[in-house]
Amino acid sequence: MDRLFDRWIWILPLVALLGVAGGIWTGCDSNDPEAPRPFFSVDDRGGSRFDTTALRDRLNQLPLESVSDAEAANLQFLREEEKLARDVYRTLYETWPVRALDNISSSEETHTTAVRLLLDRYDLPDPAADRPPGTFANAELQALHDSLVAAGQESEIEALKVGAVVEEIDIVDVRDALATFVDNEDITLVYENLAKGSRNHLRAYVRALGQRGVTYEPQYLAPSDYQSIIESEMERGPS
Ligand code: MN
Ligand code: MN
Repeated sequence: MDRLFDRWIWILPLVALLGVAGGIWTGCDSNDPEAPRPFFSVDDRGGSRFDTTALRDRLNQLPLESVSDAEAANLQFLREEEKLARDVYRTLYETWPVRALDNISSSEETHTTAVRLLLDRYDLPDPAADRPPGTFANAELQALHDSLVAAGQESEIEALKVGAVVEEIDIVDVRDALATFVDNEDITLVYENLAKGSRNHLRAYVRALGQRGVTYEPQYLAPSDYQSIIESEMERGPS
C-alpha cells in the first residue's frame, strides 16, 4: 500500500502545475472579455475590416499631433477614395452577385469610416457627409467612379478586374502618402492597415479571376511589386 502511494505521489504537483498552466492559458484566451478587441481583422476570403469602436479606442491612446495641410487634404481625398471602392463594388454586386464584391464592399465601408474617425479627430470637414452612394465632392473621383462602374457592367470578369484596379490605385496612393508627407502616428497607423487591406483585397480579386481562368495584368503597380504581393499570403491582424 505504501509503495503504491509512493509511486503516485508525484501526480499531486503535476495536477497543481496543470492547474496553473490552465489558468495562464485561460488568461490568454481571445474570448476573454478583458482582452482588447483587435481593431483590424482579416477573414479567409481576404475581407479586411476595421472594428470602429476598437480603432477609436486605439487612436485615443495616441497623441493628437498637429496636422499638416498635405495630411489634411489627403485625409479628405482618402475618405472619398475608400467610399469609391465601397460604392463601385456595391453597384457591381447588384449586376454580378459575386461574393468577393459583396464581402470586400463591406470591408471598404469600415475603411472609409476609419478615415472619417481621423477627420473627426482633427476637426476637419467630411467631404462625404450626407453624400449618397455613387456621388463625390472630388470631381476626379466622380469621373473615376463613373468610368469604373461602366467598365464593370460589361461582364463578371470585367467587374473583378475593376476590383483589382481599384485596389492597385489604393495601394499606390496610400504608399505614396506614407512615403512623402504623412508623419502623424495615428494617420500612419490607419494608412498602414488600409494598405494591408488593399493588398489582401487585390489577392482576393486576382484569385477570383484565376478561378475563372483569367490571369490579371497589373495596371498601376510595378510588375515586381505586384508579383511580391500576389505570391505572399493574406496578411492577418493589425499592424
Ligand atoms: Mn480600402
Ligand atoms: Mn480594398
